Amino acid sequence: MQPLADRYGRVATDLRVSLTDRCNLRCTYCMPAEGLDWLPGEEVLTDDEVVRLVGVAVERLGVREVRFTGGEPLLRRGLVDIVARVKRLAPAPEVSLTTNALGLARTAAALAAAGLDRVNVSLDTVRPETFAAITRRARLDDVVAGLEAARAAGLGPVKVNAVLMRGVNDDQAPELLRWCLDRGYELRFIEQMPLDAQHGWDRGAMVTADQIQAALEAAYTLTPAVEPRGSAPAELFTVDGGPGTVGIIASVSRPFCGDCDRVRLTADGQVRNCLFAREESDLRAALRSGASDAELAARWVTAMAGKLPGHGIDDPTFLQPDRPMSAIGG
Ligand code: SAM
Ligand code: SF4
Repeated sequence: MQPLADRYGRVATDLRVSLTDRCNLRCTYCMPAEGLDWLPGEEVLTDDEVVRLVGVAVERLGVREVRFTGGEPLLRRGLVDIVARVKRLAPAPEVSLTTNALGLARTAAALAAAGLDRVNVSLDTVRPETFAAITRRARLDDVVAGLEAARAAGLGPVKVNAVLMRGVNDDQAPELLRWCLDRGYELRFIEQMPLDAQHGWDRGAMVTADQIQAALEAAYTLTPAVEPRGSAPAELFTVDGGPGTVGIIASVSRPFCGDCDRVRLTADGQVRNCLFAREESDLRAALRSGASDAELAARWVTAMAGKLPGHGIDDPTFLQPDRPMSAIGG
């Protein structure tokens, strides 16, 4: 076993795999209304290729957690089968899914049967009109049904990820938390990051972690949770004495790059050692030209060694990556 170590002492054990860059929502902080130029089908890894590369990561490189994301991973036809095959790797990794939950009501039971451990569902509001304004689609009921199906299928603890945007839903943090607490979903707020395809992110307009915390504290008593944060990016609080909790992920204002244990594989087979990386390593070309598992593993190790110490969003020289979040895999 060769660890995915970098020059700063970090070791990646958590692999995020984007299964498609396509999506059926158009969240304003992620994509333009008209969508993007999707990857041509032949550039996207096949199911066999995904399972082979994840196998290299798990069996040779010490990856212990695999999260499928996108784009919208539920749009990937082979998803249930991919999950089942990844769970059969040895040692079996933890497998989770980050999803907008459209269609999850139909597939949650099959995913659980395939061995999926947990889901994170993205939901920024529980008001239908705000949901439609953010996602540009009137599909809130489908998300709510997907969340319920995930819990019923045992895909818990079900986590909800929310992004707040000024003047859109930043007045709704307490009500979203109430809604999640009432249903036993673990809510985490994530600071908006400069990863939208339209390059519309504005540091000054971003709702900061401190502002999110203040908005919640106007309605609840938050107490920092005692367990050490480790490489988990969320700062966790118990709400009104518990047992409910809420997390705040200050990716921009209090970066946690020094504790990062992540590595990413895009839908077209590129390794990215950071969300904000400006370079990628092409495993698909190597794989399709006949590389052995050992050669793929060696390429992957080299790709990780070059990981930078931090994302540098606050540096004057910061450049947003060429690919948007939906194409990297959030
Ligand atoms: N479509 C799935 C979903 O929405 O959960 C998976 C992919 S999506 C890119 C993954 C996560 O990234 C979502 O929780 C979404 O809210 C988040 N995200 C997208 N763009 C973002 C941005 N600019 N800043 C912060 N989070 C973002
Ligand atoms: Fe789609 Fe997820 Fe991006 Fe929203 S955040 S547009 S659901 S990929």
